[in-house]
Amino acid sequence: MKVSFYGHVRQYENLKSEIDANMNEVLMSGNYVQGPMLKAFEEQSKAYFGTEYAIGVGNGTDALWLSLMALGIGPGDEVITNANTFFATAEAIWIAGAKVVLVDCLADTKCIDPAKIEAAITPKTKAIMPVHLYGQCADMPAIWDIAEKHGLDVVEDNAQGIDGAGDTFKQGDRSATVTTSFIIQKNLGCFGDGGMVFTNRADVDAKIRKLRNHGSDARNVHSFGFNSRLDDLQAGVLSAKMKHITALTDQRIALAKRYDAALKEVKTFKLPVARPGYRHVYHLYAIEVNDATKRDAMVEFLQAAGIDAKTHYSIVIHKQAGFPWGKECEIAGSLENAEHNAQTCVSLPMFPELTHEEQDYVIAKVLEWDAA
Ligand SMILES: *Cc1c(COP(=O)(O)O)cnc(C)c1O
Repeated sequence: MKVSFYGHVRQYENLKSEIDANMNEVLMSGNYVQGPMLKAFEEQSKAYFGTEYAIGVGNGTDALWLSLMALGIGPGDEVITNANTFFATAEAIWIAGAKVVLVDCLADTKCIDPAKIEAAITPKTKAIMPVHLYGQCADMPAIWDIAEKHGLDVVEDNAQGIDGAGDTFKQGDRSATVTTSFIIQKNLGCFGDGGMVFTNRADVDAKIRKLRNHGSDARNVHSFGFNSRLDDLQAGVLSAKMKHITALTDQRIALAKRYDAALKEVKTFKLPVARPGYRHVYHLYAIEVNDATKRDAMVEFLQAAGIDAKTHYSIVIHKQAGFPWGKECEIAGSLENAEHNAQTCVSLPMFPELTHEEQDYVIAKVLEWDAA
């Protein structure tokens, strides 16, 4: 049996009539950029997310650096983030011109360690950018307390955590912005690139709307900005899918529970740790092997059995050869948990359309590996 890592086409088939209707509406309207569908999707998004403003932008990376820029963060400033995240989080800080300060994650949830954040704060620190890694919210109440104590902005990188929440909080409660990515492999994905910034601040909303559109908020009037808009066609796709996001997330959670139950007795790896009461949306179902020297062999074993297991992310940011070191990037303290995670993580197939038959096959092969 072949088990893929994503179910993009299945999801399209399931929601085809609604997606096609929206795409057709856009195509026939003749308005493809900053048109009515984008506006409607922004209204729908802010109502869904519970913020005052939602701004559609070109992709999730732009959503991050546009947030920093709108907050006035740039050269000479420092931004603290996870060492274990998709590269784009750090890249966005670098694009904004600020210094990337990487801190370690917690050993269990792999989310950023609030104690390490506080230790990394200097007079130059302007913002904290926690990542809701693998779909689980970071410990936001602790992070917000630190930010408020030191007068820092919080920009939540929610590219992996749409529809997630904490036990006593929701995303964005005390943050300057929450950003997300709509690239297809994310939990809410379109058919190309897309991103969004959520905020409760009118000034941030106005700045990002200008910055995304050549610094313009009136015809022929410009200040220097960029071109980073969410296309109306993509907005139409996302609008149709957003109506189903709770159900799609619930399917992920149900599949995670099936993995948890079937794999609870394994000896060679640990299961993902979900904080009690949090809505972990399982962007990834990432296990942690006990013996790092056997990790690649496990992935190869599963691949050979037709199962598209992957690693996220097997090279931590500070070990990426291409990253500009020194002036622009800094390590704050030991990053041992992040480094350990890079060597021990394996992501099993996880998407809402994964069938029980396919999942049972994955479970059987994983148990076979565990027993060998
Ligand atoms: C995907 C991702 C991004 C970047 O999103 P793009 O839309 O690809 O630019 C940023 N941060 C994290 C944590 C991501 O997973």
